[in-house]
Amino acid sequence: MDFTGKSVLVTGGTRGIGRAIVEAFAEAGARVAFTYRSSSDQAEALRARLEEQGVEALVFQGDAADAGAAQEAIDGVLEAWGRLDVLVNNAGITRDNLMLRMSEDDWDAVINTNLKSVFNFSKAAYRPMMKQRGGKIVNISSVVGVTGNPGQTNYAASKAGIIGFSKSLAKELGRRGITINVVAPGYVETDMTAAIAEKAREAMLGAIPLARPATPQDIAGAVLFLASSHADYITGHVLHVDGGLAM
Ligand code: NDP
Repeated sequence: MDFTGKSVLVTGGTRGIGRAIVEAFAEAGARVAFTYRSSSDQAEALRARLEEQGVEALVFQGDAADAGAAQEAIDGVLEAWGRLDVLVNNAGITRDNLMLRMSEDDWDAVINTNLKSVFNFSKAAYRPMMKQRGGKIVNISSVVGVTGNPGQTNYAASKAGIIGFSKSLAKELGRRGITINVVAPGYVETDMTAAIAEKAREAMLGAIPLARPATPQDIAGAVLFLASSHADYITGHVLHVDGGLAM
């Protein structure tokens, strides 16, 4: 897939899936901007690596749950590159607990980071993409948003919310040539899943028909497809990239 000359913004690009998405777009010729919240060293290291490879890169620090920070990032991309071809809403967190013990803070943090952020960035991208008469938004949900998972009511609600949001926006923006699609990863080995107990990990692996966890690159490949011209006639779709976990 060739993204030469395209400008791409990825939220939460410093680690895990987001970083793999940033690197895959860079490899495919795009100019890549990414955001992060707190890991400045990793952000600077990634930017330096991309620039060494001759890739134009922009970095924005800010909380994705903050509408002002989202607007600043989109404005920054437009100022530097004049357009935004692809937006990938990837930033996300977990704050797992059984419902009885889940605090209001844990609920709010997950809903705001995972779901409100998608609203923030999509809203800021809406006008520029409409003016360009085209654009692609890819939102990262989760298998848990489709199947549910005990201890993750907040996370599952945020990820199911992303699916409803994306289908609605796909219907609003289809006539403008803008597509909105969703990638729903299964179990991916990143910092987010590193704390899962060995027993739970084995149980999860046992339920995956392809019998291995996903790599961040497996997810990035699906994102690039949905952001490419090969997917011009696909919108409002939820692409499961989970080794068959949620059939
Ligand atoms: P990681 O924890 O490895 O990375 C999360 C990234 O999001 C980091 O770059 C982090 O920035 C950024 N981020 C977190 N909160 C914010 C915030 N408030 N504002 C801006 N950036 C933020 O997660 P993964 O790579 O595992 O997950 C990426 C996405 O994929 C998430 O949406 C997650 O829900 C989803 N997903 C993951 C699965 C998995 O198995 N790993 C499965 C299904 C979905 P910083 O480095 O500064 O903290």
